[in-house]
Amino acid sequence: MEWTRSETLAHAAPGCNTCLGLGLRIGRNETTHPCNCVLRAIFRACFEHFRDCVSRERYISKVTLDPLPGKDRRGAWGRKSEEFSADFCLISKRTLTPPEYDIFKYHFLLGADWKLCCRKLNMDRGNFFHAVYRIEQKLGRVFRELEPYSLFPIDDYLHGPVKGVRSCLAEGDVAPVRPPLRAA
Ligand SMILES: [Zn+2]
Repeated sequence: MEWTRSETLAHAAPGCNTCLGLGLRIGRNETTHPCNCVLRAIFRACFEHFRDCVSRERYISKVTLDPLPGKDRRGAWGRKSEEFSADFCLISKRTLTPPEYDIFKYHFLLGADWKLCCRKLNMDRGNFFHAVYRIEQKLGRVFRELEPYSLFPIDDYLHGPVKGVRSCLAEGDVAPVRPPLRAA
């Protein structure tokens, strides 16, 4: 996917020294890359939503019917909170190296602070925070770039991208709605 300024601007840290708050940095051959501050912000937004999902009373989570884009108008039933939490954990496990995943598990999933993590993982404070930054950047990028269903933007994950539905209506092959009628 191509990262554009209109997307990165909203998530960039205003005081970032690398991108000056624009969210993009220019690489070799004039290619544009998202700034690390944007990737970390994406990770943190997904992590906040994950925490929100798992802390909600899970037995009253709503079952939703979501329309599927395209000609198939049936829609899909799902429990969005559970799906998001499961995807968050599975994608993280798949993306990170085993030592990174250990840090992710203790710090983000189990909520251990840096002191406890450093003792448990036998690391010093500097290396721990470097690793946390690296994990946030790696996951932020994957959460956004994952295809066909990215975790971020979270609204698109939960309700489906509005754009996809619009483009299929523009094809001009939309069948008129015919309610089922009993044969006379
Ligand atoms: Zn930046």
